[in-house]
Amino acid sequence: MADIEREAMEYDVVIVGAGPAGLSAAIRLKQLDSDIQVVVLEKGSEVGAHILSGAVLDPCGLDALIPDWKDKGAPITVPVKKDNFYMLGEAGKIRIPNWPMPSLMSNHGKYIVSMANVCRWMAEQAEELGVEIFPGMACSELVFGENGEVKGVVAGEFGKEPDGSIGDNYEPGMELLGKYVFLSEGVRGSLSKEVIAKYDLSKGYEPQKFGIGMKEIWEVDPDKHCEGTVTHTMGWPLGGNAGGGSFIYHLDNNQVYVGFAVHLNYKNPHMFPYMEFQRFKHHPMVADLLKGGKRIAYGARAMTEGGYQSMPKMTFPGGALLGCSVGMINVPRIKGNHNAMLSGKVAAEAAFAAIGAGRSGDELPDYEAEVREGAIGQDLKKVRNVKPIWSKYGLVASLVAGGFDMWTNTFGFSLFGTMKHGKSDAQSTEEASKHKVIDYPKPDGTLSFDRLTNVSFSATNHEESQPCHLHLADPDIPMTVNMPKYAEPAQRYCPAGVYEVVDDKFVINFQNCVHCKTCDIKDPSENITWTTPQGGDGPNYPNM
Ligand SMILES: Cc1cc2nc3c(=O)[nH]c(=O)nc-3n(C[C@H](O)[C@H](O)[C@H](O)COP(=O)(O)OP(=O)(O)OC[C@H]3O[C@@H](n4cnc5c(N)ncnc54)[C@H](O)[C@@H]3O)c2cc1C
Repeated sequence: MADIEREAMEYDVVIVGAGPAGLSAAIRLKQLDSDIQVVVLEKGSEVGAHILSGAVLDPCGLDALIPDWKDKGAPITVPVKKDNFYMLGEAGKIRIPNWPMPSLMSNHGKYIVSMANVCRWMAEQAEELGVEIFPGMACSELVFGENGEVKGVVAGEFGKEPDGSIGDNYEPGMELLGKYVFLSEGVRGSLSKEVIAKYDLSKGYEPQKFGIGMKEIWEVDPDKHCEGTVTHTMGWPLGGNAGGGSFIYHLDNNQVYVGFAVHLNYKNPHMFPYMEFQRFKHHPMVADLLKGGKRIAYGARAMTEGGYQSMPKMTFPGGALLGCSVGMINVPRIKGNHNAMLSGKVAAEAAFAAIGAGRSGDELPDYEAEVREGAIGQDLKKVRNVKPIWSKYGLVASLVAGGFDMWTNTFGFSLFGTMKHGKSDAQSTEEASKHKVIDYPKPDGTLSFDRLTNVSFSATNHEESQPCHLHLADPDIPMTVNMPKYAEPAQRYCPAGVYEVVDDKFVINFQNCVHCKTCDIKDPSENITWTTPQGGDGPNYPNM
């Protein structure tokens, strides 16, 4: 396809992904110079369509970017009023009081928001400043300059036949070229992954770690709804099988976000993260809340968990990685949106200074320095050992030793130094024969649902007459290696039921894909690569 001719459009800065990181960068660039030319490309059918996080937002990122966000009508109106943390057993619960936790863990002063709606509002702010935003434009390729620098992306290629050949309705898309290209694709970005590999950006850093987060929105009985309440749990049903836990956030309008995260470094390939989530809703505490309510939306997305020591080098010739394309989630706080916004802001400031100095196509070292040494680095550094302690010593140790370490880090030191993560999540998977099959109860259709029914509540849509966007490096591996060794875990780790084994054949139902990227992360043979399908395809999250 190298000889395809495309129109090119030139900008100062090209931004891939309209999440909090990309939109913050666009807004900041225009705040600094209204004449700077900025384009944001988004693969979702609209801004917000692929934004899953129904979140507790730390407003520090937005405060820095748009200090008068309240006056400007930001959809950030539900302050956290109650902050609960429980350790669950199968039928009971123990409340962990807030006082032993360092203040960084407190959710007071934070807001329960739909990040999809926050991004929609940020896109309006960006457009008012003159940013061009093109939704429905998947960026599928990088464009390189003569010196090997990234100088742009290809976006908006449509109409390939299922075998990859060019069909009658083929549209080659465009080249969007910039002095700098920002990759703000979120977790496991497909172009970001290419850039990390091409420029060896992970060298010298710990491997990135991930979790899979799944979320349903419920409308609950008004008598049970308690606006502003945040609840986190650990323990049951995961027990010792995997790290992770749940979140329950009471938004307004009797809506509740019910979510569950499973760390993807689990060893047992029989683990079924989606079914753990479904089982969790049968705990008496959760079932009491949800009974009489209805599930109105579902979605899933991987989340970065490696933290401070796993952030790769984040600049490359011609651009930078932003937000969760670097991996900026503070794991014990389960928060990354504030850091995504801050990274967009500081990347914009670095690019603005570089362009003002007549530079282009080179690296932006000031951005990297500010991320590592500034507010983002400080936020992540304090909690850097929580995840490795949990992975190595289990849940109780992570609460006690991880909590202790967060306290000492609040005062600027750690007895643990900086712990390593060691293996990647794919390498953590062990052979099926070493582990017990886990028996999951059948969904009851009231509190718990089968995957395909739930996927229909993500409004996912993919044009079927396009090539499958999930590529197998070796098509034989699923049945010759993964099946005998690992009982082909793709059947279980995918929260959308994309992968099946039918009549001894590996089947990929790419139409169901919710773009969570778990397959690209967890396949034990590292045989699956997630690429962008046609722009506009994928989930259509309404208000998640
Ligand atoms: C279940 C779950 C719960 C969470 N809860 C919280 C919370 O309570 N509080 C909190 O602060 N954080 C939370 N997070 C983390 C938060 O969602 C991330 O830190 C944040 O989304 C990172 O922002 P981003 O802009 O880097 O990426 P994203 O928000 O992922 O945005 C990336 C955008 O880029 C687009 N894109 C990707 N690739 C391409 C491409 N090639 N071409 C065009 N467009 C592309 C995507 O469609 C998307 O719109 C949660 C995450 C999950 C998964």
